[in-house]
Amino acid sequence: IVIAWIGLMAWSQGEPRLFVRLVIAIVAVYFVVGLSFRTALAVNVIALAFYAAAAAFAKAMPGTELTQYLSMLMVTNVICVAGAYNLEHARRTAWLEGQRLAETALQDGLTGIPNRRRFDDHLQRVWSQSIRERKSIALLLADIDHFKPYNDRYGHQAGDEAMKAVAAVLAGFARRPLDLGARYGGEEFAIVLFDTTRDHAVRIGEEIMAAVRALSIAHTDSTAARVLTISIGIACVVPVARRSCEGLVQLADQALYAAKDAGRNQARVQEAEYEHMKTGYFRRQAAEQDEPGKS
Ligand code: GH3
Ligand code: MG
Ligand code: MG
Repeated sequence: IVIAWIGLMAWSQGEPRLFVRLVIAIVAVYFVVGLSFRTALAVNVIALAFYAAAAAFAKAMPGTELTQYLSMLMVTNVICVAGAYNLEHARRTAWLEGQRLAETALQDGLTGIPNRRRFDDHLQRVWSQSIRERKSIALLLADIDHFKPYNDRYGHQAGDEAMKAVAAVLAGFARRPLDLGARYGGEEFAIVLFDTTRDHAVRIGEEIMAAVRALSIAHTDSTAARVLTISIGIACVVPVARRSCEGLVQLADQALYAAKDAGRNQARVQEAEYEHMKTGYFRRQAAEQDEPGKS
């Protein structure tokens, strides 16, 4: 509209200085107004076509002058098109690069599944959502059995490959949008299952263990089985506002160690009555354990 309006003024008044404003308006549409490349191009083409038609139809300008004006406007447009295209291309590339970096920061480098940071963020998010919706959350902590001996016998590279295979199996069990399978650290993994009952979580745990065994990764130094296995600790709670999600992690961790104690290659559920526990229960218990002479 601005271009057409200035163009019409230039044409009707035969005022060459207005022509300069027309050029400025073209540049503005591309770079200052901030229209996207295609929109800016379309605006300019329509406005210039309108200007050319109006000027030619009214015949207020001598033909040579009109041709001169129009060709200069076209040149301005072509230069702006090239500049705007490059600018938008650079902007898009930078945005994509930023997205890629943000994604990489939340991914585990070895296994390609979400990392601990992503897990912490996610757990915090579903924790709040569960409080709002009064839904339960199940957390499964999985740890590869006798993985140090595995590395010792088969080498670290084989260990890495085994870890990737186990990670892929685990991540495959987090299928719904609010579920997440992540590498928790070392050879430990965590799976958050939103709105999941205790029994369902136990079933999933059993399925995960079976799927890892089905990988049939030979582990002759394991006392738990002839193949690589995992142990799983499960905790399932309905979050309440006065408690933080760290307690859930601690419950699952206790269950995991119970599973390890019981001989590995199995899942255990922490049956604590979460609803009736006092705030800070976990912290106090951890502190008491740390105190010397109080074991
Ligand atoms: P447990 O059954 O009690 O869990 O025994 P474990 O040997 O699995 O546990 P431990 O904590 O003694 O050893 C964990 C091992 O996991 C030691 C470490 O070398 C290995 N590990 C941790 N991260 C990686 C990794 O990224 N790649 C490889 N290859 N090994 C790893
Ligand atoms: Mg282990
Ligand atoms: Mg471990």
